[in-house]
Amino acid sequence: MVRLYYFTAALMFCVLLGSQAFGSFVFSSSERGSTEIRWTRRVIRVAVSNSLSDTAPNIKKGSNVTEAVKRSLATWENELGVRFQVVSSDAANVSPTGNSGDGISLITAAPTAENLQIFGENAQHLPAMTRIFFDRRGRITEADIVLNPIFQFSTDGTFGTYDLESVLVHEIGHLLGLDHPPISAGVMSSQVARNGLYGVEQLSGRQLSFADVAQLRSIYGSTSRYEECCGEIRGKVTREERTANDDIIWLEDAETGRIAGSALVGDRGQFSVKGLSSGLYSIYLRTTGDDGSVTDEFIETIELATGESFSMDVAPQNTFASNTLEFLGAMGQMSNVPVQAEPGGSLLLQLAGRVEKRPFSIGSSSPYIMIENDPKADQSLSERLGVVSVEIRIDEETPAGHYSIFIRSSDGSRSYMPGAIVVSESRETSLLRNPQKN
Ligand SMILES: [Zn+2]
Repeated sequence: MVRLYYFTAALMFCVLLGSQAFGSFVFSSSERGSTEIRWTRRVIRVAVSNSLSDTAPNIKKGSNVTEAVKRSLATWENELGVRFQVVSSDAANVSPTGNSGDGISLITAAPTAENLQIFGENAQHLPAMTRIFFDRRGRITEADIVLNPIFQFSTDGTFGTYDLESVLVHEIGHLLGLDHPPISAGVMSSQVARNGLYGVEQLSGRQLSFADVAQLRSIYGSTSRYEECCGEIRGKVTREERTANDDIIWLEDAETGRIAGSALVGDRGQFSVKGLSSGLYSIYLRTTGDDGSVTDEFIETIELATGESFSMDVAPQNTFASNTLEFLGAMGQMSNVPVQAEPGGSLLLQLAGRVEKRPFSIGSSSPYIMIENDPKADQSLSERLGVVSVEIRIDEETPAGHYSIFIRSSDGSRSYMPGAIVVSESRETSLLRNPQKN
């Protein structure tokens, strides 16, 4: 479970509205292990508890709950060859742990003891959780979603509340069998921000990212008749010492710089990223040393053909980065939740980390993300952590997605914040696509 750390850089007055980690899978009867879990039914029946309404104590009065449920299910349905059938229900409680549940997949917000119990000792940290039941062959038979009764939700961006639609999109991803990716670049990220973090509404979790769609396709395949699905990049990392299982491979679309996927490196060095469309991919490796020091390396750019399984060997150079980035933010609030931007916009991005060795520069692997000035050193957060700020401009043509930022030291070493900036679809595009909605 990833925990967030917050720092207030105190550059200006701000109320720190913490973001929290999402709930991970809760397994009822068996560990997931290496079993891939998925639905095999073409129609998934979802019961929406009558407790999930704007009369629930934890949902803001006047929220459009029905629309949020409908839209969050449709977001996944659009990328999936499966349909949701929604019914309303008087049921209020998540199915208890056991070999199987009651067979009804329930979304509930009821403040009952049974529902609170699912959060266990994480009740103060997790806005929602999903409990999944599946059989020995990995077929999901039921998945129940519980909104934590102690947090506030809304649909209009009210500061200090969680965006109901974003939280539902994340949990429905779990309902479908998706897991948290090791790199935060989409709705399945293990972190969610409350509205108000960085001084803005946090609604980017409503839209699936490039990496979310790849993860979904890695389980269910493509729904497009025009695309053969799906390619895979796999391989083995050869490392002398291997002490922990926290090395990460991440991929960026080489033409745009968008994060395309990520994978944990297994204990024998193996990795695999599936669900990929054909294209050019830049491959990066993050290794973690015994002392917790992190090294990022660009490995190579490869061309993946349609339906290909590309295999590679990765031998890390272990070039230790002189300066490293650990947190990012805006408006004086630092966390590790991506900062939102729009095509054609600009923002003052703050980065915190071990930034001692000068000179250094800030860069992006995307041709759409421009660094407008030399990084300015702000005050230090602590003895160890310094803050730098840079102005960033987002090209008008930037496709929606998550983009990385890095710090480059004078010795050439780099440290990345993969997926630091999330660019949403431009307002005009989303209006065109949803002409009936304002
Ligand atoms: Zn989660």
